[in-house]
Amino acid sequence: MTVTIKAKPLEAFVADIFASAGCSTEEGGRIGRYLVSANLSGHDSHGVVRVPRYATQKKNGTVLPDVTVDIVVDTPVIAVVDGKYGFGQTVTPQAVRIGIDKCRKNGLAAVTLRNAGHVGRVGDWAEMAAEAGLVSIHFVNASGSVLVAPYGGVERRFSTAPYCVGVPRPGQDPLVLDFATSIVAEGKVLVASQGGKKVPDGALVGPDGKPSSDPHLLYGEYTPTGPRDHSKGTGAIQAFGDHKGSGLAFMCELLGGSLSGNGATDPKRGRFANGMLSFYVDPKVLDPAGFFPQDIAKYVDFVKSSKPAASGAEILLPGEPEARMRTKRLAEGVPLPDDTWAAI
Ligand code: NAD
Repeated sequence: MTVTIKAKPLEAFVADIFASAGCSTEEGGRIGRYLVSANLSGHDSHGVVRVPRYATQKKNGTVLPDVTVDIVVDTPVIAVVDGKYGFGQTVTPQAVRIGIDKCRKNGLAAVTLRNAGHVGRVGDWAEMAAEAGLVSIHFVNASGSVLVAPYGGVERRFSTAPYCVGVPRPGQDPLVLDFATSIVAEGKVLVASQGGKKVPDGALVGPDGKPSSDPHLLYGEYTPTGPRDHSKGTGAIQAFGDHKGSGLAFMCELLGGSLSGNGATDPKRGRFANGMLSFYVDPKVLDPAGFFPQDIAKYVDFVKSSKPAASGAEILLPGEPEARMRTKRLAEGVPLPDDTWAAI
């Protein structure tokens, strides 16, 4: 069973929870807005299902309220940013803003973010850059969250290490490729464990090497509304795309994790932190003649005109499923499984 709640009241409700938990009203509002934005995009795994976990992190002090980031290295085109365990919804937009400002001045910027609370749906940050007219590329790791087996293995070595690319299109929705390098994001297993959409068979692997879709392999035993602790399971999530996805996950760990100073995923780290390396490129500097948007438009038509594999199906672009879901859920509301709502 599900309950359906309109986006604005859901945002306000989440904002109130965090304001009551000791965050500023502004920070509560940001947490509400970004979590609900993930639900609106169809990524329920990164939406309000996270409220109990964020609230626990706030309560036990592993995530801190209202943090202003430190800029550890600052050159015209590079910044190394320390999020100091602030909420991802607060420290990530600060880091992205630094990248946008540097890129606008110089045409190019590279910014790392370390020790960030959960940055949520990485597509939000590509969309923020795209709104400023910039292309962006993000390599992310989630240190302290060892969940994914490397290609050929059954023991966890990677985080779900997302990768994201955003391309702005004047007057249109940006193109946003944004995915976990695991077959499914951990939150999708969380949603499945709470009675939501099941994960595909083979998204998980048991210690015996057998492919599975059973969330217990990640969380061990749990009650319907009780906490989910991914250190309790004996299995792993699988990396997507065999050796290729596993290799991309490895590079996200090195670039989002090691190069940012966050540290590649380490079971002994204890405290969760997202690390992110982001590149920002101003297409107006690389392409003053304006070829890029025209060629994108032409190429998009060419790609979408491919004959679909199944009759009646449609070729979608990166970001298109999210944009469509946003339109639908803004009109109809956000459906939440009863267990998710009860846990909040
Ligand atoms: P996913 O498997 O749903 O893939 C999403 C991507 O694929 C999007 O770019 C989407 O536009 C595109 N897509 C989906 N269906 C398509 C179709 N039919 N045709 C063309 N393109 C299509 O995403 P996921 O791996 O489950 O990740 C979900 C979210 O989890 C992402 O937003 C990611 O940033 C986030 N995440 C965050 C963390 C973190 O630590 N903060 C960790 C892992 C994942």
